[in-house]
Amino acid sequence: MGRTVVVLGGGISGLAASYHLSRAPCPPKVVLVEGSERLGGWIRSVRGPGDAIFELGPRGIRPAGALGARTLLLVSELGLDSEVLPVRGDHPAAQNRFLYVGGALHALPSGLRGLFRPSPPFSKPLFWAGLKELTTPRGKDPDETVHSFAQRRLGPEVASLAMDSLCRGVFAGNSRELSIRSCFPSLFQAEQTHRSVLLGLLLGAGRGPQVDSALIRRARAERWSQWSLRGGLETLPQALNTHLTSRGVRVLRGQPVCGLSLQAEGHWKVSLGDSSLEADHVVSAVPASVLSRLLPAQAAPLARALSTIPAVSVAVVNLQYQGARLPVQGFGHLVPSSEDPGVLGIVYDSVAFPEQDGSPPGLRVTVMLGGSWLQTLEARGSVLSQELLRQQAQHAAATQLGLKEPPSHCLVHLHKNCIPQYTLGHWQKLEAATQFLASRRLPLTLAGASYEGVAVNDCIESGRQAAARVLGSEPNG
Ligand SMILES: Cc1cc2nc3c(=O)[nH]c(=O)nc-3n(C[C@H](O)[C@H](O)[C@H](O)COP(=O)(O)OP(=O)(O)OC[C@H]3O[C@@H](n4cnc5c(N)ncnc54)[C@H](O)[C@@H]3O)c2cc1C
Repeated sequence: MGRTVVVLGGGISGLAASYHLSRAPCPPKVVLVEGSERLGGWIRSVRGPGDAIFELGPRGIRPAGALGARTLLLVSELGLDSEVLPVRGDHPAAQNRFLYVGGALHALPSGLRGLFRPSPPFSKPLFWAGLKELTTPRGKDPDETVHSFAQRRLGPEVASLAMDSLCRGVFAGNSRELSIRSCFPSLFQAEQTHRSVLLGLLLGAGRGPQVDSALIRRARAERWSQWSLRGGLETLPQALNTHLTSRGVRVLRGQPVCGLSLQAEGHWKVSLGDSSLEADHVVSAVPASVLSRLLPAQAAPLARALSTIPAVSVAVVNLQYQGARLPVQGFGHLVPSSEDPGVLGIVYDSVAFPEQDGSPPGLRVTVMLGGSWLQTLEARGSVLSQELLRQQAQHAAATQLGLKEPPSHCLVHLHKNCIPQYTLGHWQKLEAATQFLASRRLPLTLAGASYEGVAVNDCIESGRQAAARVLGSEPNG
């Protein structure tokens, strides 16, 4: 009889793992178990007035690099090429990004010439930060916070304005707590290998084997900076679900896994409330903290390591305005923590993807709230009402973008613990987990945003790699 693999979690990581398992030449029996009634996890797109699309989670996927190319290949395999909405390299959303500092928007310099010009809010042209970077010796610690790394290599202004904002934009996190090694591995590796990040990125750029397809070639030729799908990014998990069902994968929804136990024969029993599943192998694509609570006593050291991977909450407020105009055209702006502890940034959705503005078209922006402001309120047990979040977001849109009229449409969602935080020493937690799984030869493989990258591309890759490990029959993490 063939093996049964149970995949926990129907977010993009679990869907990708199931996809790659189901496409093996001799596929195992695959059961995907999702706790909620919906697949896609944080990827969720909803339609508003006039069919406008509002993304409650991710809104753009980067095509760059080997992982970006693999995701585009997946899109083509699912027959979604004609649904892709690209942001081409010459588009304002590809070229312009802003920082909101000192009560004003500042364009980040782009291109080589931009480095030599004065670029407020930085006091000197960024060329000087580059020069410092090139002449700074290699760090000696096995890990360092993003802030300390950036301060050492690029100076205090770049650390506290640019890298602080970047950490808030990507991880909704604090650069003084996040790990450079785990959050920005290419920067860490560049320093390790070439002594300088700039040299490393220059010399290492474009290396590595890449997959190929017509869509990938088009993305390269047109220098896409990101892409979405006409009906919203949720089209991707929906297409994966259709594909999985056609390949005979059993997809269970509304079935939260409530425990895992090891049977005498080395099989898993996956408990689902009043029923259970037998599995030869389990791929976990639920958050690390969830898995830590499901594991049996024999896996207590693994559960302990996983339980120390934290996550932070983000409030996503989608706003639409009729007849309004933005003061600038670009992807959006980020806000450093010194400027506003609660507003992470605002994405100008309509600039990148006007096709999703609905009819009649209305200006769409998304305000991301989080950071220490939200953490403090959560820690105090304050009531985070929709009204409070809406007011906060509308105030930010009014003061930072001049959108002073009331919006015609507003959606408020508080996503609890939605972004894992790779804090200092995260790599040691991963090493402890991998060693435990290997030494006990547990038939359990880890995938998902909790481990090696939170971007959609990283999650899809984690699912692909998990499937490859299962198919290679290696019982490790
Ligand atoms: C607001 C926001 C904006 C983002 N923007 C971007 C962006 O623009 N670009 C980008 O690349 N990335 C972005 N990301 C990151 C990216 O969307 C996520 O990291 C990614 O979707 C996580 O996928 P996942 O499958 O690993 O986890 P999840 O999406 O968390 O999926 C896990 C699944 O497991 C299920 N589950 C949980 N417990 C159980 C249980 N006990 N039993 C069964 N099922 C269970 C959950 O219901 C969920 O469906 C964003 C994330 C957020 C939150």
